[in-house]
Amino acid sequence: DDVVLELSDVVQIFTVKGGSKVHAVNGVSLRIARGETLGLVGESGSGKTTVGRTALRLYNPTSGRITFEGDDVSQIKGGRLRRILRRRSAMVFQNPSTSLNGYMRLGDILREPLDIHKIGTPAERRQKVDEILDRIGLGSHYAQRYPHELSGGQRQRVGIARALMLDPSLIVADEPTASLDVSVQAQIVNLLEDIQAERGLSYLFITHDLALVRRISHRIAVMYLGRIVEVGASEDLFTRPQHPYTASLASMELEPEDRIIPEGELPSPSNPPSGCAFHQRCPIARPQCASDRPELVETTDMVSGQPRAFACHFPGELELAVTDHVRTTV
Ligand code: SF4
Repeated sequence: DDVVLELSDVVQIFTVKGGSKVHAVNGVSLRIARGETLGLVGESGSGKTTVGRTALRLYNPTSGRITFEGDDVSQIKGGRLRRILRRRSAMVFQNPSTSLNGYMRLGDILREPLDIHKIGTPAERRQKVDEILDRIGLGSHYAQRYPHELSGGQRQRVGIARALMLDPSLIVADEPTASLDVSVQAQIVNLLEDIQAERGLSYLFITHDLALVRRISHRIAVMYLGRIVEVGASEDLFTRPQHPYTASLASMELEPEDRIIPEGELPSPSNPPSGCAFHQRCPIARPQCASDRPELVETTDMVSGQPRAFACHFPGELELAVTDHVRTTV
């Protein structure tokens, strides 16, 4: 496998007001191959956004190793960080209104990464901006416009275009369609898929939107309270979830009476439960679950033969009510 990004046992601890420590990410390992989309799902507070930001070193990991195209980027700084990671990866944010500088024309916003990394002559940079504006369906005359003159969907197209300016191998997209209307969401997803097919890009696609993640991802990793609790090929995960939390997520695609709703709220990451972090909410928890934390066990899916992993003492026991009624996605 040509691995683009690999995280090994990454931990991210934040100190919050009052001095208490929050384990936002608690030993996450994952890998993304070239041309692959890994969906990262979980509730808000699960740590998925922190994983994305730490992977691109917007945060420094507390511990663990991050490898990007074979280079250990866990602790690099300054020029090396720019040359290796900033040059070959990019982020697309949830809210294009705040991620684009409102005082800059689109042409300048798009040219900025080329200026920072000193790529091409002024004429070549202008040409690249024109080409990318055409590619995202706006046209080169948009170079003179300001972000506030665009619709939300157009602004997100510019956010994607900016991420593409340096021809990255990896884009981390954090809820890139969450602030958009449903019809516009589909256009943005199509654009991301087309660009991936053209360029062989890899995506880490962070979202709480299950229909979307199922459609766009080759594989999915499910996060719960700072840890990955299940990973596998998208269809395997949705049709044969092994972890009860994944089963509850997958059941949201079923008829209302077949949905599995975890009890209570997500516990605070500053005070995680003992044993399996899901035990207070899990419909099939047993006494062992409150004391022993299950490790992520790697195996293969018994039907597809694809690799998968889950962290549960009683995998597969919570079955989806009517598996063959699982709706196909949009
Ligand atoms: Fe539920 Fe126990 Fe599995 Fe945790 S280990 S998900 S509590 S069955």
